[in-house]
Amino acid sequence: MSENPGLVLVIEDEAAMRRFLRASLAAAGFRVAEAENGDAGLKAAPLQPPDVVILDLGLPDMDGLEVIRNLRTWSEVPIVVVSARGQEKDKVAALDLGADDYLTKPFSVGELLARIRVAMRHAARIAAGGADEATQFVVGDLKVDLAARRVFVADKEVHLTPLEYRLVAILVHHAGKVLTHRFLLEEVWGPPYVEEMHYLRVYMANLRRKLEADPARPRYLLTEQGVGYRLVDE
Ligand code: CA
Repeated sequence: MSENPGLVLVIEDEAAMRRFLRASLAAAGFRVAEAENGDAGLKAAPLQPPDVVILDLGLPDMDGLEVIRNLRTWSEVPIVVVSARGQEKDKVAALDLGADDYLTKPFSVGELLARIRVAMRHAARIAAGGADEATQFVVGDLKVDLAARRVFVADKEVHLTPLEYRLVAILVHHAGKVLTHRFLLEEVWGPPYVEEMHYLRVYMANLRRKLEADPARPRYLLTEQGVGYRLVDE
């Protein structure tokens, strides 16, 4: 990580959680700005534009989803939402509104920093206009050659159908991020298919069979329970 990892705006009403986040982020070199409700967060963000927003979904003055909707009208800042266990619906809604990732309470400092790193890397790639989007994606023994549209496992080419390849390419483009079922269905199959969860399940099973050493215990194509899928990027 660079010497100045950046400014994190924490929007969270629980004082204990804010203290934990401030201490963890400061120890990792981040500068931290805090807001204890949605209104304060929305006022702080334009004054001192953060590099990442950590957003609690359960705020006293407004729904965290409202904060995302508002931020996304003018900012592409990475947003990592924090939610309580069992609020999968909220997580999915947050991601579909443009949040980048989520943490479920309680989470570790390691998880927090990993999510922030992924969100910042992704934002940097987008800001670069995809210019430094590598033509090859490699993780473990999985290699995707985006220029040639070919996929290899342990240097052996794997034959994918056009739809399977499309799914892989979208996962690679957003590597490290969790992608919702709805997002993947819309990107791969198109808007009329966003509810067709079984398409995705079938294709993911096929991909795991082709790309994973043990499809029942995937290393690369991870399931995010009740939310979607994530392709690991490190
Ligand atoms: Ca809260």
